[in-house]
Amino acid sequence: MVQKANTIEELLNGCPVNQMICDNLIRAWAIINNTKYKKIVCAISGGSDSDVMLDIVWRCDKDNKVDYVWFDTGLEYQATKNHLKYLEERYDITFVKKRPKIPIPASCKNYGEPFMSKITSEFLQRLQRHNFQWEDEDFDTLYKKYPKCQSALQWWCNTNLTDNFNIRRNKYLKEFMIQNNPTFKISNRCCKYAKKDLIHNLLKEEDYDLNIFGVRKTEGGARVRYGNCFDESDKYDNYRPLFWYKNSDKEDYEKAYGIIHSKCYTEYGLKRTGCCGCPYGRDFENELDVIEKYEPKLYKAVTNIFKDSYEYTRKYMEFRKMMDEKERIKQ
Ligand code: SF4
Repeated sequence: MVQKANTIEELLNGCPVNQMICDNLIRAWAIINNTKYKKIVCAISGGSDSDVMLDIVWRCDKDNKVDYVWFDTGLEYQATKNHLKYLEERYDITFVKKRPKIPIPASCKNYGEPFMSKITSEFLQRLQRHNFQWEDEDFDTLYKKYPKCQSALQWWCNTNLTDNFNIRRNKYLKEFMIQNNPTFKISNRCCKYAKKDLIHNLLKEEDYDLNIFGVRKTEGGARVRYGNCFDESDKYDNYRPLFWYKNSDKEDYEKAYGIIHSKCYTEYGLKRTGCCGCPYGRDFENELDVIEKYEPKLYKAVTNIFKDSYEYTRKYMEFRKMMDEKERIKQ
């Protein structure tokens, strides 16, 4: 078991050479031990960032104010579950386990499967809801036909200022979909039920006044919509202890504090964990090979739950390759 510090001097005694880590620990200590916070929650995933975050928070939480919560999406690696047990022993804590009201398989079955990314799935879900026929028309024409579907049509017609909200962000996706209309329901609802709603409900029901979670600025993408490691709101404050960590800081911390990651990284060779086999993963084919080899039961489950999305993604990838090749020949 790791020893907890009682004072900030103890905490910083033997602090790694890296100044960034020391400054970050001082900030974490000041925030977590602020008497303003009576109830603190910290969401743990079992991933590598989460391991470092847990170590920081646990060391700084001298009065044991923090509850550590694990959201079991229902599509978790056995290696993650084993790792969580190891963490409970290492820090002498017990994770509060929460399960979604609508598990991922039921959500995918009822509302649709995730495809490509959160934004893509969101807009496709809206288009499907309005019985869109995948026409290649301009925005004004389509808006007359589907008047309640403005933002999804803007995405489809590439009329947004930023390409994050235009379909052309995914090369040839529009051309592909016009030629290959999706025959299955697409949706990003599983994320809402298995992740977003769980934490929101927990914060509301349990009256937490500080919410700690692991997001790093360098992650980029839709997840990082914050400008700082800390923000305040009427109901509760948010703190992201790893926000400023670069990969090298993370490595320095791991070495200095003897952080051990789950077998997902050390044995399976995965670069990220999270929902097992999520079709959003760019490298989902490789992940599927890993799941088949190491967690065959889970493989059976994910290839059933995300079957249509995997097939459609594969088809799109082939199409993209073919179009790239055509373009190359033309040039
Ligand atoms: S990460 Fe993927 S599988 Fe998990 S809830 Fe979100 S969309 Fe669904």
